[in-house]
Amino acid sequence: MSPRLEVLIPATRIAARVAELGATISRDYGDGEIVIIGVLKGSFMFMADLLRHITCPVTLEFMAARSYDAGTTTSGQIEVTKDLGRPIEGKDVLLVEDIIDTGLTLNYLKLLLAQRQPRSLKTAAFLDKPSRRRIQISGEYIGFEIEDKFVVGYGLDFEQKYRNLKDLCVLVS
Ligand code: 5GP
Repeated sequence: MSPRLEVLIPATRIAARVAELGATISRDYGDGEIVIIGVLKGSFMFMADLLRHITCPVTLEFMAARSYDAGTTTSGQIEVTKDLGRPIEGKDVLLVEDIIDTGLTLNYLKLLLAQRQPRSLKTAAFLDKPSRRRIQISGEYIGFEIEDKFVVGYGLDFEQKYRNLKDLCVLVS
């Protein structure tokens, strides 16, 4: 039987919140240039929408990270499968993530990037699931805090599917 999808956050609410986040980021950075690093694949839709609401000068980079996971669980082992193409030394860097769940991926990426000596390093995450945290870490710009449910849509997948959904949905098996 194929899983059922229930809308958790509709596209209209997502759009309004992403616009708010973009305005806050624009206010915080002013005219300063930001290097925005999208963590593939899950953040691509959030990143694209967020960027349209950021008025500061920006340059874009992408990274890809993978946790050795099985289905909907995270093992804690992180591997960077795509690294940056340029140095970030002395730059103001904003890491854009889809979701902070256990926090292990973000922690790993932040430690890695901090070694490259950016001027500042902040995180924008579309979603935050604080109840799942295995390490104490948080993002400066959070779209929505959600309960411990496995979500798909708006860039997030289950077995590479559902990324194209406009709404954020819960998979109900
Ligand atoms: P971490 O557990 O390291 O904080 O998150 C690792 C990654 O697991 C996230 O970047 C995201 O791609 C994936 N992930 C965590 N929770 C969910 C979820 O509810 N739905 C989906 N589709 N991916 C998730």
